Amino acid sequence: MYLMLLGAPGVGKGTQAERIMARYDIPQISTGEILRAEIQAESALGLQVKSVLDAGELVSDELILRIVANRISQADCAHGFILDGFPRTIPQAEGLRNLLRRMGNIELNVFEIYVPEEEIMRRLLARKRADDTRETIENRLEVYHRSTAPLISFYQKDSHYTRIDGSHSIEDVEADIDGHLKALTLPVNVVA
Ligand code: AMP
Repeated sequence: MYLMLLGAPGVGKGTQAERIMARYDIPQISTGEILRAEIQAESALGLQVKSVLDAGELVSDELILRIVANRISQADCAHGFILDGFPRTIPQAEGLRNLLRRMGNIELNVFEIYVPEEEIMRRLLARKRADDTRETIENRLEVYHRSTAPLISFYQKDSHYTRIDGSHSIEDVEADIDGHLKALTLPVNVVA
């Protein structure tokens, strides 16, 4: 099962990815988490990207694609993964499409989670992560609309695209996504 969660920062992608990971035993790949771990470890990569994350800007497509290509080639990704926070630009989506093609024409199931903007701001301010100051949040939302929202039409053309209302409780959103995942994982030769 190859999944991607799409949506603005704060819609609950990370929370839902963790729950899907636990339930379906496939790894969550969060490029934001990978970058934060590098910053925490003060690695060369971490030092290189820290100011970009602090400003709420995007790390280069080339760097992100290298990180993801490396991560999805690992053994635990052999039967699927959940992408959370990647891709975030059209070039990243095109890069991912090439990677999936090379892995044997893997079909990606995209879930777009949407939440009204006032609610997003409230959630992100409550989260208190280092890159969750009001100024950074405003910039991240602007970057989302400019660079990432175009992915909605990029992926909507795909038949495996589902929109999820993320404004309900975590459990209700999880149940909604799970209903769709169950349909995806049904053996094709089973007649309901
Ligand atoms: P996230 O945890 O997904 O909100 O990501 C936190 C920050 O990491 C973002 O604001 C970006 O600076 C950087 N980042 C994460 N994923 C990507 C990506 N796919 N492309 C570019 N920058 C990213």
